[in-house]
Amino acid sequence: MSGRRFFVGGNFKMNGNKSSLDDIITNLNTVNSPETDVVVAPSPLYLDYVTNKITSQVKVAAQNCYKAAKGAYTGEVSPAMLSDVGVNWVILGHSERRHVFNESNELIGQKVKHALESGLSVIPCIGEKLDEREAGVTEQVVFEQMTFIKDNVEDWSKVVIAYEPVWAIGTGKTATPGQAQEVHEKLRKWLADNVSDDVSKSTRIIYGGSVNAGNCKELAKGKDIDGFLVGGASLKPEFLDIIKANA
Ligand code: PEP
Repeated sequence: MSGRRFFVGGNFKMNGNKSSLDDIITNLNTVNSPETDVVVAPSPLYLDYVTNKITSQVKVAAQNCYKAAKGAYTGEVSPAMLSDVGVNWVILGHSERRHVFNESNELIGQKVKHALESGLSVIPCIGEKLDEREAGVTEQVVFEQMTFIKDNVEDWSKVVIAYEPVWAIGTGKTATPGQAQEVHEKLRKWLADNVSDDVSKSTRIIYGGSVNAGNCKELAKGKDIDGFLVGGASLKPEFLDIIKANA
């Protein structure tokens, strides 16, 4: 036993409406896994709606936020606003933010810093693209992404790292348990070498990329895999099976 609590996040992305969220919430309100942290991230428009309807066993996260508390930043949401509506978690640097919206390592680092300083817990995402894996530079890419995160974190107890190989996100192509465990182990060693032994041992590193009810149990066996960040399958009833993957 690692002592790290199993963690399962659901990223709804830009999906759902009140009616479909009601179905998801009804399903999630049956969750009975007190030993697992469960966090779901609906679209920002529905954060308040979901927060008010969901069981206290499931926490709510934003999918993104900005690096300032307020001001002339049209279309953005601040950590202070998230806290105000009872949202205490945020996903930052998701691959779609990095690669569709061109967010840089610098910006993601600044967002991590501001979110943590504002009292949120953060799920920073890292991961290599297919060409980077094929070129053998996976470690180099994820370690560089980690450097920008590390430079902006003081309290690691509020950080859950999500390793999400870009080639596995939304593609139905999951990393094998061996491939995922290999990168997680290297990330844990990187934390030991670059932050501290304590942080390396206590920080949760979760895997994301086409996780579903069929593959989650094998993936959860990896000793450095502390849970999942789930996209597509988090919108389906099978999300409950993923929450119990380590049972
Ligand atoms: C994600 O959005 O973080 C993700 C891993 O998506 P999917 O599970 O659909 O691959």
